Parts: sequence; C-alpha cells; structure tokens
Amino acid sequence: MIRYALMCGCGLEFEAWFGDSADFDAQSARGLVTCPDCGGADVRKQIMAPAVAGKSDKRGASDPAEDAARFEDFAAQVRKRIAETHENVGDKFPDVARAMHRGETEHKPIYGEASKSDAEALADEGAPVAPLPEPFVPKDRKKLN
Ligand SMILES: [Zn+2]
Repeated sequence: MIRYALMCGCGLEFEAWFGDSADFDAQSARGLVTCPDCGGADVRKQIMAPAVAGKSDKRGASDPAEDAARFEDFAAQVRKRIAETHENVGDKFPDVARAMHRGETEHKPIYGEASKSDAEALADEGAPVAPLPEPFVPKDRKKLN
C-alpha cells in the first residue's frame, strides 16, 4: 500500500491509499479518484518534499551534507515532475510562449530556455512566465535544433 498526498483542482488537499503507483494511475485514468469535497476528478498527486529522518538528535544542528542531499532529492523530484508534465521547447521558448500568450497556439505547459531580456519582454507583455532556478531544470533537456 502506498499513501499519496493529493490535490484537487478546487484546491482541497487530501490523502488516499492505493495498492501501488500503477493502481493510482489506473484509477485516476478512469476518473475514479475523486475529491471528497467537490466530487471532481481533477485530482493530482502533490509534489512531495521528502521528510528524511536525520541521523542526529542534536536539536538545531544540521549537517550541511545531509541538507544538501535532502535538497537534491527534492530538486530531483521537481525536475522529474516538470519533465513529465511540461513539453521541452528548448530555445524556442520565447516564440512559443509569446504565441500561446497571444492565443495563436493552444496553451500547454512548457519549459525551455530564454535569455533574461526575452523573459523580461514576455513578462512585460503579461505572459505567465516564471524563471526556473537551475536546480529544478530537467537535466535531460536537449536542444531542439
Ligand atoms: Zn475538489
């Protein structure tokens, strides 16, 4: 059994048990994972920050190596999540983001590369772009051309 922290499109966060992750995927695909509040099926797994039990009992004493490892675990999960749910548009990011913002193409979650000035120009146009700090950038990114 595996317990997942879930989040509904309505904003409710709740937990549910599944046989395994494939069980969750199967139930979710069939719309069987529903929100206890609104009954909706727009339910997703939350990104989870691992709660790693420290080896030391010393309060307030944190091991920098342990903290770094914990952060790397978290960053790895974020990278995986982004790679799974966002399309890599590489260095076409400014063009694709701008076309979506202008309604010229279908909206979809994307990530890619933009210069600081491109990103600022997009933000000035009101496009919903957010810089992705380096630790969270998927490492399998590839240039598309
Ligand atoms: Zn809901």
